[in-house]
Amino acid sequence: MSARLLDGTAVAAQIRAEVGPRVAAFAARARRPPGLGIVLVGDNPASETYIAGKVKAAAGVGLRIDLERLPATASLAQLLGIVERLNGSDVYDGILVQSPLPEAMGAGAERRVFDVIHPAKDVDGFHPINVGRLMQNRATLIACTPSGIMELLERSQIAIAGTRAVVIGRSDIVGKPTAILLLHRHATVTMCHSRTPDLPAIAREADLLVAAIGRPAFVTPAFIKGGATVVDVGITRLTDRAQVERIVGAGSKRLQDFERRGSVVIGDVHPSVAEVAGALTPVPGGVGPLTVAMLLKNTVTAAEERFKARGR
Ligand code: NAD
Repeated sequence: MSARLLDGTAVAAQIRAEVGPRVAAFAARARRPPGLGIVLVGDNPASETYIAGKVKAAAGVGLRIDLERLPATASLAQLLGIVERLNGSDVYDGILVQSPLPEAMGAGAERRVFDVIHPAKDVDGFHPINVGRLMQNRATLIACTPSGIMELLERSQIAIAGTRAVVIGRSDIVGKPTAILLLHRHATVTMCHSRTPDLPAIAREADLLVAAIGRPAFVTPAFIKGGATVVDVGITRLTDRAQVERIVGAGSKRLQDFERRGSVVIGDVHPSVAEVAGALTPVPGGVGPLTVAMLLKNTVTAAEERFKARGR
């Protein structure tokens, strides 16, 4: 059997096509486009790539998008100063501070930044108020990767209600909110993590398995109930040829990609899972494109809500 691939690129294009007219309607009413302010600290190459993707996608649907850069040596106070300025500006409906922040900013820096972004502009959905609303199933701004996973499943007609779902990974950004969203859609949800004993046995109970771990090819066929839907959130860039060949197999197209580029992005799910799963999100082209599309959707939603809140 070969799993049906859930096409995140196509679903993301659908979402962008729905966001475009909302952006235009907002711009006509407010006499300005919805605005997204992005702050990038330092020069992490992966962050540069993500930001370039976000800027291009936002411009493509007509959002205003401004990128503020700070050097890696910037202080947390400087960063918070920018966030406060964006909070107070009427031009920006959404604020995104790209993770990770430089280590020199200190251990609690990211959390401090998430706390300071105004909840109404928190298009990443990381502010404690928005996380609390998510718990109570009344959130308007939800973290982009988990909400993107839901869009991908629903638009691919994957049943969620009544299923057994297992989420591996308990991060605040992916694992926990994904488990809560599945729960709100009436799945029976089990959360697993690095201290879960006999993980493959628990995973094999799942009709719907989400892997958000950050360990390439960790989930093997031993984790999969035949016919299950498998969502692969992991993205790890590998540069070691031997490791890549072990995972993707000699003579595979992915290995040819590696030979051309010198690196390849591998998910948390081993490619051989495609032989036992019923449906699978590919890496790349699965969850990743949804994360960006949901950022655009959250930005126009934040703009509409802010406009409404002013009684206009
Ligand atoms: P994280 O490091 O914050 O969390 C990883 C989680 O995996 C932890 O909760 C940990 O308990 C669990 N884990 C680690 N080792 C484990 C093991 N051996 N067995 C079971 N569980 C284990 O990572 P994150 O931010 O949640 O991201 C997870 C992955 O998803 C990363 O590869 C990241 O790059 C990727 N990601 C992708 C997107 C996207 O748009 N596709 C977005 C965000 C994150």
